Amino acid sequence: MTLCRIAIDGPGGAGKSTVAKILAQDLKLDYVDTGAMYRAIGLKLLNLGMEIVEGPALDEMLEKTDIDFSDGKIYLDGEDVSGFIRTPEVSMAASACSALGEVRKKLVALQKDMGGRKSLVMDGRDIGTNVMPDAEYKFYITATAEERARRRYLELKEKGEEADYDQVLEEINQRDYNDMHRDLDPLKRADDAVLVDTTEMDIETVVKNLKNMIEK
Ligand code: C5P
Repeated sequence: MTLCRIAIDGPGGAGKSTVAKILAQDLKLDYVDTGAMYRAIGLKLLNLGMEIVEGPALDEMLEKTDIDFSDGKIYLDGEDVSGFIRTPEVSMAASACSALGEVRKKLVALQKDMGGRKSLVMDGRDIGTNVMPDAEYKFYITATAEERARRRYLELKEKGEEADYDQVLEEINQRDYNDMHRDLDPLKRADDAVLVDTTEMDIETVVKNLKNMIEK
């Protein structure tokens, strides 16, 4: 059987996860949201009140941590945490802990294991460059920081949460900077990834464009 592994990378808020999810559903492939894995670790660190730094405490915590996906939900140590990982605090904790070598080592190994065996859609920051460099299809989905902040802001408002556009934009810029400038597996477009700028595109159009390229 020929493998169809689709790697989708790009900065936060560009619509990657939404696009990846629809694509996976339409093509009947599994979907792995690697950002959710970093978020789960970030959540655990916050819940334990741990400092986000390298060291024996982190190693011990990681050793005792179990992360799993089932039916589109993410489980941390057996508990469904899908509803708790999208807050701004967890976003920042995920970004901070994703720069730590031990965290990446654990999660990248899990992801490589999943990506080596079967057809799937995986999204994140280093999927095309590091986790699945030999993926059959690679996309880099982006949009301007202002447009991404506008989308996040509307999303938060829709959920009835407090939101301040300038603060959302600042967090997006901060996270972009962290993700692009860290030493380990920084966010960057793989040389062979197709660049998709969604600033002026709706989700449907993005999905249609990607499918055209995949089914060709
Ligand atoms: O994609 P999402 O915003 O959920 O990712 C949360 C954070 O996890 C990112 O800001 C990034 O720091 C980290 N991440 C990563 N590598 C990935 C996926 C996410 O470092 N493959």
